[in-house]
Amino acid sequence: VHELSIAQSLVEACEDAATRAGAVAVRSVTLRIGELSGVVPDALQFAFEVARADTLLDQAVLHVAEVPISVHCVPCDVVTTVGRFDGFLCGQCEQPCPEILSGRELEIVRIEIEEPEVAGAARR
Ligand SMILES: [Zn+2]
Repeated sequence: VHELSIAQSLVEACEDAATRAGAVAVRSVTLRIGELSGVVPDALQFAFEVARADTLLDQAVLHVAEVPISVHCVPCDVVTTVGRFDGFLCGQCEQPCPEILSGRELEIVRIEIEEPEVAGAARR
């Protein structure tokens, strides 16, 4: 599965951001994963634990916020939350909606870092 390569690039991106911020470690990472992204949260969690070894994320916790799929029906101007296999039908007119508003997300929302205390104090 591709979760491992996703986890690896995720760890790289976070480590990069943490290094630039002068962090000594990453405490936690929060992700938004859409139901349509094709990523299985459990599999990603497992892959993350493999990928984080020997990085600044060694002790980091991965939080996953799952984003449901929602579609927009233009004629009705109605937004409907749908399941992955529901055919993306409008809740009002029950026609398929071509416009997907959410559900494709795969993004880092938040990275919690640990700063070196000495450096933090020296800055003042
Ligand atoms: Zn409609």
